Amino acid sequence: MLKINESVQLIDLHFLGYPQAIAAYLLIDEREAALVEVGPTSTLNTLLGALEQAGVSLQRLRHLLVTHIHLDHAGALGVLMRRLPEAVCYVHPVGAPHLADPSRLIASASRLYGTLMDTLWGAVLPVPSDRIRVVHDGERIEVAGRTLVALDTPGHARHHHAYLDEASGLLFAGDIAGVRMPNTTYVRPPTPPPELDLEAWQASLAKLRALPVHQLALTHFGVFEDVSRHLDELEHRLLQWGEFTRQLVEQGLSDEQIIEAVQAYGNAEMQALGVEPSSYDLGAGYQLIAMGYARYWRKRGKL
Ligand SMILES: [Zn+2]
Repeated sequence: MLKINESVQLIDLHFLGYPQAIAAYLLIDEREAALVEVGPTSTLNTLLGALEQAGVSLQRLRHLLVTHIHLDHAGALGVLMRRLPEAVCYVHPVGAPHLADPSRLIASASRLYGTLMDTLWGAVLPVPSDRIRVVHDGERIEVAGRTLVALDTPGHARHHHAYLDEASGLLFAGDIAGVRMPNTTYVRPPTPPPELDLEAWQASLAKLRALPVHQLALTHFGVFEDVSRHLDELEHRLLQWGEFTRQLVEQGLSDEQIIEAVQAYGNAEMQALGVEPSSYDLGAGYQLIAMGYARYWRKRGKL
């Protein structure tokens, strides 16, 4: 567990046994505790162990916020809520119905992950509707002695919020600020199907730039302070990979060929910087990145 400031700690969920793949953030004051992201059910034991280590009883954990409902961020909610009698969870309006009834979410993830579903994510259970708080853009939530502002930030997914702790300038960015490993500068855009939207993503980045954000707390993985450089690099690469994949789709390449080409392109960029490509693959694998772009371009019907 890593201390970000006096009341925020990063929990490494050790997804599939690997460090620095998926984070959850624990917010504490003397009265109560909150989590931003809970991870998948497959890492629930790690999460519970970290809470115990931090001296946070399940009784004290009152608020579960998720930036979006993708299973690596929110998959454990249904299972976890059954163990937290006092807790409520906070979610984007577009995501809320899929927490109450995860059948479409599971079906959609199964199309992407197939037989690996259970190994990767574990069980996905419904969250009782009366314990779901739907949060709207700009809404302020009081949790664990601080105020978090919900920021509707589509692009990676339509059901995405970032949460800004206004007092400290710490932004819980989810996936809208990309994937970056500790001690590197390289930012990888996570662009999965089916909701990738480049224009919406750019608008979300512009929205974040206009706010007093001093630190980015990424789910994949960790806290970074070079906010404007980071966001600039992400936007540049998001569009550059967009242009690259648009041409591949235009050339009529198969899905397999597009995945291979994107992987070669991305890995060449990283190797030139001396960054280990595989360290990013659990946060944002090339297959989903390539398929997200390909679907985006085909859907736009320009090709
Ligand atoms: Zn996601």
